[in-house]
Amino acid sequence: MALIVQKYGGTSVGSTERIKNVARRVAGWKKKGHDLVVVVSAMAGETNRLISLAKEVQAHPEPRELDVMVATGEQVTIALLSMALVELGVKARSYTGAQVKILTDNAHTRARILSIDEQRIRSDLAEGCVVVVAGFQGVDGEGNITTLGRGGSDTTGVALAAALKADECQIYTDVDGVYTTDPRIVPEARRMKKITFEEMLEMASLGSKVLQIRSVEFAGKYNVQLRVLSSFEEEGEGTLITFEDNRTMEHAVISGIAFNRDEAKITILGVPDRPGIAYQILGPIGDANVDVDMIVQNVGHDGLTDFSFTVHRNDYQNTLKILEPAVKHIQARGIVSGDKIAKVSAVGVGMRSHAGIASTMFRTLAEEGINIEMISTSEIKISVVIDEKYMELAVRALHKAFNLDQPA
Ligand code: ASP
Ligand code: MG
Repeated sequence: MALIVQKYGGTSVGSTERIKNVARRVAGWKKKGHDLVVVVSAMAGETNRLISLAKEVQAHPEPRELDVMVATGEQVTIALLSMALVELGVKARSYTGAQVKILTDNAHTRARILSIDEQRIRSDLAEGCVVVVAGFQGVDGEGNITTLGRGGSDTTGVALAAALKADECQIYTDVDGVYTTDPRIVPEARRMKKITFEEMLEMASLGSKVLQIRSVEFAGKYNVQLRVLSSFEEEGEGTLITFEDNRTMEHAVISGIAFNRDEAKITILGVPDRPGIAYQILGPIGDANVDVDMIVQNVGHDGLTDFSFTVHRNDYQNTLKILEPAVKHIQARGIVSGDKIAKVSAVGVGMRSHAGIASTMFRTLAEEGINIEMISTSEIKISVVIDEKYMELAVRALHKAFNLDQPA
């Protein structure tokens, strides 16, 4: 018998029919003797509907009131799911975030969980109840309703699993797991049976379609076994997101190929090669809250060097504007930039113990005639920036070169 936290996303509870299906699934687990805490999102589209309703009244809705409002989406689904469970003869009780007492800070619309009082949940479980908890919401120290940011129900699920020391946190969604790359680009992409927290974080561009990335960080920090599963399939083991297991030797060297089209590249030419320059360039960008991703500086020659970095495409124009005075001030030669780039990454913990990954990656791209504009590496990831128009070709070629289309 295990203590399991299950989380069902918006599409999984998108209609009363689907909520009844979820109840049947939960009842099945309960029947096997497990203790269950179930976290649900609002019905599909409901959070968006509530936000646009608010915007009809106030262009930039008051954050405190917006939280009061959007938190109602989840309050509806917890009640409906509990009713559906009771209808199946399963004892169930629903709670809002504030009732549980999921205590958060007071940063409305993007609050962080500070602590969870699990007493009430524990005593309900002891009475044989399924406990149904509203995702995405909490309460601050003054009793104000807060929400955790879009997709925040995943984080509620993981946080409850951590607080209750659950055996597993199962995230039910509309896909059956995490794939070696996006199957819409590479039809041969396979579902991974297992992936580490670190890899999942490095694959944010793939993973974030499946899970709120913050929930993965949380799970890694508190050692919560996470499993992504489809709520539309009866069977299936999904993808387990867990710690690196040194006992299962011989895992694939590369686990997946991630990609991202949302970046723009900026190069400052002829930058004087002296202390403080990187700070003069990136300081104002950081002050404007723009995240810089890759940074490359060449070796200097004749006292000058080139300095390149990437930012999110949405921040591109703004970054160019911020840079203008700095570039003048340091008397650089000029800026070349473009937003028609893409980043492609090979990710895998196996990289730590295998040589030659980078050369396989570069050879593969060379054979396709794809020029690499920037390269960056971490212990478990190699990323390249290339022309956006070759992105899909690069992803396909790399997926094949690392044998990701073959059963592991
Ligand atoms: N209902 C919220 C949203 O749409 C939270 C969630 O679904 O995780 O973002
Ligand atoms: Mg979601």
